[in-house]
Amino acid sequence: MSANPKVQSETAHQFQLLINGRRVAGAATLDVINPATGKVFATCARADRAQLEEAVAAAKAAFPAWSQRPLAERRELLLQMSAALAERLAEFARLTTQETGKPLASAEREVKGAIGLTRAYAMLDLPTKIIKQNEHGRVVRQQVPLGVVAAITAWNFPLTLLANKVPPALLAGNTVVIKPAPTTPLATLLFVEMCADILPPGVLNVIVDQNDLGSALTEHPDVAKVTFTGSTATGKKVMASAAGTVKRVTLELGGNDAAIVLDDANLQEIAPKIYGAAMHNSGQVCIAIKRVYVHDSQYDAMCHELSKLAKQAVVGDGLEAGTTMGPLQNRAQFEKVQEFLADAHTKGKVIAGGKVLQRHGYFIEPTIVRDIPDDARLVREEQFGPVLPVLRYSDVNDAIARANSTEYGLGSSVWSANAERAFDVAQQIGSGTVWVNKHLEVAPEGPFGGAKQSGFGVEMGQDGLEEFTQVRIINLSK
Ligand code: NAD
Repeated sequence: MSANPKVQSETAHQFQLLINGRRVAGAATLDVINPATGKVFATCARADRAQLEEAVAAAKAAFPAWSQRPLAERRELLLQMSAALAERLAEFARLTTQETGKPLASAEREVKGAIGLTRAYAMLDLPTKIIKQNEHGRVVRQQVPLGVVAAITAWNFPLTLLANKVPPALLAGNTVVIKPAPTTPLATLLFVEMCADILPPGVLNVIVDQNDLGSALTEHPDVAKVTFTGSTATGKKVMASAAGTVKRVTLELGGNDAAIVLDDANLQEIAPKIYGAAMHNSGQVCIAIKRVYVHDSQYDAMCHELSKLAKQAVVGDGLEAGTTMGPLQNRAQFEKVQEFLADAHTKGKVIAGGKVLQRHGYFIEPTIVRDIPDDARLVREEQFGPVLPVLRYSDVNDAIARANSTEYGLGSSVWSANAERAFDVAQQIGSGTVWVNKHLEVAPEGPFGGAKQSGFGVEMGQDGLEEFTQVRIINLSK
């Protein structure tokens, strides 16, 4: 427990909205469930449509002054935000574990990641460029902010997702209304509350809904850009509703990442890495490995290695020491993953796990499934849970074709003792990121984004920052 008195009990903390620099109670309240117990552990403010309007109006009113401030001043404030988060790391980590279910060590890594991302974005710049200059005049290229940005996030990594949206939007000179997922609003509310002491009123606002205000934000005529992380199904709705006012959108959507293990791979070395990349955050990672293709010659051995690792997992409450895997984050996802589990039992052979834990909370054992056909739901769809299918191939071209045979294109990986051989295969995969001999690694220098229906636009690095700008050309004649 942190020494900060505010942390004594998160349930005693008043989680409120922040609109125009003021903490306000919601028009209603929202109960937040700890997925490790299945019980309500906190209540927070929930906004109605009128409060959404107030938040957008506040962001709109704050935009002229904020956008005209020199970027260097905005950078300083971002650095203060990063430092403030670092000071309260323990408090944010504990809250993140309570609302997401992930083990405390993972939550700490998430908070540290958000601290680092905020810093990394703060160090970027948007320099004006002279494209052409002669005695007749000059052409100047500037990157200017868009206006009010609506940031909408998913529940698997609330702070990571926030840190890929709020800092770059603000550095570029936009103002923001953020809306977290209804099952994980607390770390976002606390972060924005913390920023109220750093940023001018209206620059960063937060509303919480119960899956009922997202479209009002994405349709809003005063919102210039939507940066969205969530499912492909919702991403399509966001894109359609943004069309009304030709909003800019960045969509970070679902994935069904394949890992292709070439016939020369060292299984002892790679099995723990593949297992880790599949089961991290109980499989609830957009870029988790969701299918593994293994050559005939190593198929049985790989199935054995992966099931051994699954059987060693310590599944439990993320706040308990020793826990290596937490619960699913919410009841809907818990029920959805059970459907995949049923499909796996019917169509394939479950060689590790395969059961729901008989205790409170949303726990499913890490599960390895072999001998499952390509048309099973577990292979075709995004399971977003700790159930991993292992598939057999004999011809690498067939493995590549099957890996590519999906509407998703977020990440993928190729594993081999010969990295250059794997690189050749990587060049044939249709995803935004292809790793060789690793998976999941995303660096702040970016960029990161999806191909096909995994979205478009990117986050992280200079490219991620520029998503929050509009090119303005000033073409001057002397
Ligand atoms: P979701 O689409 O159900 O919800 C995401 C957010 O959208 C929530 O805040 C939700 O309240 C909001 N929302 C719901 N309806 C809306 C509407 N009509 N208009 C606007 N917003 C609306 O997704 P989820 O279940 O919370 O998240 C899991 C999904 O997110 C998975 O598919 C996962 O792969 C994906 N994801 C992608 C990335 C990435 O970077 N590509 C990262 C994390 C998660």
